[in-house]
Amino acid sequence: MDSNEFDFENRIMSSSFVAEDQENENSLRPHTLDEYVGQEKAKENLKILINAAKLRGECIDHVLFYGPPGLGKTTLSAIIAAEMGVNLRITSGPAIEKRGDLAALLSNLGEGDVLFIDEIHRLPRTIEEILYPAMEDYALDIIIGKGPAARSIHLPLAHFTLIGATTRAGQLSTPLRDRFGVQMRLEMYTPEELASIITRSASILDVPIDAEGALEIASRSRGTPRIANRLLKRVRDYAQVKGDGRIDLEVAKYALDMLEIDELGLDNTDKRMLETIIRFYNGGPVGLEALAATIGEEAITLEDVCEPYLLQIGFLARTQRGRMVTRLGYEHLGIPYPMSDKNDSVGGSNEQISLVEDDE
Ligand code: ADP
Repeated sequence: MDSNEFDFENRIMSSSFVAEDQENENSLRPHTLDEYVGQEKAKENLKILINAAKLRGECIDHVLFYGPPGLGKTTLSAIIAAEMGVNLRITSGPAIEKRGDLAALLSNLGEGDVLFIDEIHRLPRTIEEILYPAMEDYALDIIIGKGPAARSIHLPLAHFTLIGATTRAGQLSTPLRDRFGVQMRLEMYTPEELASIITRSASILDVPIDAEGALEIASRSRGTPRIANRLLKRVRDYAQVKGDGRIDLEVAKYALDMLEIDELGLDNTDKRMLETIIRFYNGGPVGLEALAATIGEEAITLEDVCEPYLLQIGFLARTQRGRMVTRLGYEHLGIPYPMSDKNDSVGGSNEQISLVEDDE
């Protein structure tokens, strides 16, 4: 199979940030907790944390957000900084290459500031260790010089809040994870919540949309606001070119069908991943590495980009021996489900099967 047929990085349905998301990114981001739709549990907890910290005149405890990309982790961090009236510094695990990079970032923080580290699980362990005294005692322990002449100096830091974001809480080291006083999992959004995000975004972009049009885009957005905003912009283009600029059910359906995004938000890449497992591996189980080699992609890309949603909607199951397409997955593709012993257990009572991401 030709690996060039798959463009995972730039696919419309990727929940990771892509270049086209840049347009209006800042104006579409909600700026207060009240504007932030959904995630009621996380919001309620954050309100209490923020109010209590304000009452005590302290900064809030370090927070770890985890969950798939595009669910609003960066947005929530910016809201926390704004509600606390402090500065926000944004960086990411892969951007910090040396211990000195992190030490410089930390020592430049002002009193109460928020430091947001995206993809914190990708911070190398040797660098991560700098965070332990910084988070616990607001201090940097730095060794200067080498051998017998080496000495350790203790540099005090401003009181700050570290907000870490990760798609894989399971990959965080225990010492780091334990230093976050607050840990919150962000959940995928319901179609109704996404419809309200789309309606809000449409009014900022000055695009007329009705409730049915918004719900149609929402239900194909894989539970993810980033995808919802991206699809809204694509449908807007169709509405302007092919119609009078208004988005209703008919226009939304037409545009999304043209983009080959089906009614559950699956695109061709998802379908081909499922079809590959069915055609080449008899429905599975197949190891991620073998599957990635057949499709011509890196295993990590399949795991991060395609799998979470397919697992969430129960089309794919993770077993100890690899990935399997479930009966629901077969049915969605219109392929008859084989009635062998092996497959009978999928979606049944087999304990080895997990329909959710289990890397935590
Ligand atoms: P993450 O950091 O989890 O990858 P972001 O915070 O960058 O996600 O959010 C992606 C996009 O989705 C942003 O443009 C933001 O405007 C939008 N968004 C995320 N969560 C919400 C929400 N709860 N309400 C409205 N818009 C949201």
